[in-house]
Amino acid sequence: MRRAFALALAVIALSGCAPRAQSSTVFAMDTVMELTAYGPRQAVDGAVSLIHEAEDRLSVTAEDSDIARVNGSGGGEVDGDTASLLKRALELCKLTDGALDITVYPLVRAWGFTTGAYRVPGEEEIGSLLEKVDYSAVTLEGNTVTLPEGALLDLGAVAKGWVSDRIAAGFREAGVRSGLINLGGNVMALGKKPDGSDWSVGIRDPFSEGLLGAVSVRDSAVVTSGGYQRYFEENGVRYCHIIDPRTGRPADSGLASVTVVGAEGVLCDGLSTAVYVMGLEAASQLWRENSGFELVLVTDGGEVLVTEGLEDVFKPMDVYKDGEIRVIRRD
Ligand code: ADP
Ligand code: MG
Repeated sequence: MRRAFALALAVIALSGCAPRAQSSTVFAMDTVMELTAYGPRQAVDGAVSLIHEAEDRLSVTAEDSDIARVNGSGGGEVDGDTASLLKRALELCKLTDGALDITVYPLVRAWGFTTGAYRVPGEEEIGSLLEKVDYSAVTLEGNTVTLPEGALLDLGAVAKGWVSDRIAAGFREAGVRSGLINLGGNVMALGKKPDGSDWSVGIRDPFSEGLLGAVSVRDSAVVTSGGYQRYFEENGVRYCHIIDPRTGRPADSGLASVTVVGAEGVLCDGLSTAVYVMGLEAASQLWRENSGFELVLVTDGGEVLVTEGLEDVFKPMDVYKDGEIRVIRRD
C-alpha cells in the first residue's frame, strides 16, 4: 500500500516536471514566429495576443500604431509599454554610441527597405536625410514623446527582442518553466529543456542555407542580424537593410553576421543590429567594457570569432570545424 502510494507520488512528480508541450505558429512583424511552452495552453494563447498587440502598437507602417502617430505629428502620448521600450531603446542607442539609432528611419525608407521599392539614393538626398537622424534629440517624459522637426522613429531593430522578453515574463508568470520562443532569428530559451539539458539554438551560416553552428544555453536570448537577411543588388553591389547612421548607407563593416547571446532579449536584439554596423574592433571593445552579453561574429572573409563566455558552449558545424574559431578575450 505504501509502495503504491510512493509510486503514485513519483508518477505525479515526474509528470509535474514535464508538462505537455503547447505550441503556436504566428506570422507577425514580417516573420514566422514559433512558440513552445511546457505548461498551460493559456500561456501560449496569451503570448500570441501579446505579439499582435505589440505589432499594432509598434509597427512603423501600420497607420494607427503608437509609432506612426508620433511620426505623423512630431510626438505625442504613447502607451506605457511603448514608452518603456522606447526608454530602453534610447539607452541602447547611447550604449552603442549611435551605431543603433532609432531615428534612422528616413534613410531606411529612402533605400526602399520599408516598401520593397529598392533604390540607391543620391549623395545629396542621403546628406539631407542624415540631418534628421539623431536619437539624442528625442525626448521622452513619462509617456510623452517629442521628436525634432522631420525626425521619424523606427523600433524595428529592437521590437522583436523586447517582445521575446515580454513573452518569457508571461510564460514564467503562468508557471511555465521550460519553453522556446522563436521570433524569426530572435530566439529566447526559457529555462532548460524538460529533460534538464540546455537548449541548443542554431545559428544560420551567412553564406549558405545551412547552419554555422549552435550554442547551448538556458534562460537566454540568441539573436542574429546579418546582411543576408534582407538586401537588394544593383550593378553587382549588395545593399543590406541595416543602415550605418553615420554614413546613411547600408552597413559595410566587414561582418557578415552577428549573433548576440544574453539574458535580456531587447539588449541582444539592439546589439545585434549595432554590432553589425560597428564591425569587429569596435564590437570587441564594447564587449570588453560591458557585461550581460556574448558574441558570435562571422567576417565577410568567413572567419568565425566568439567571445570568451561562449568558448565552451558554441559548437560549430562540420564545415566550420576545420577553420579555426578565434576567441575574443577580456585580458
Ligand atoms: P531584423 O529585424 O531584420 O531581424 P534587425 O534587428 O537587425 O533585423 O533590425 C533591422 C531593422 O532595424 C531594419 O529593417 C530597419 O527598420 C531598422 N534599422 C536599420 N538600421 C538601423 C540602425 N542602425 N539603427 C536602428 N535601426 C535600424
Ligand atoms: Mg536587432
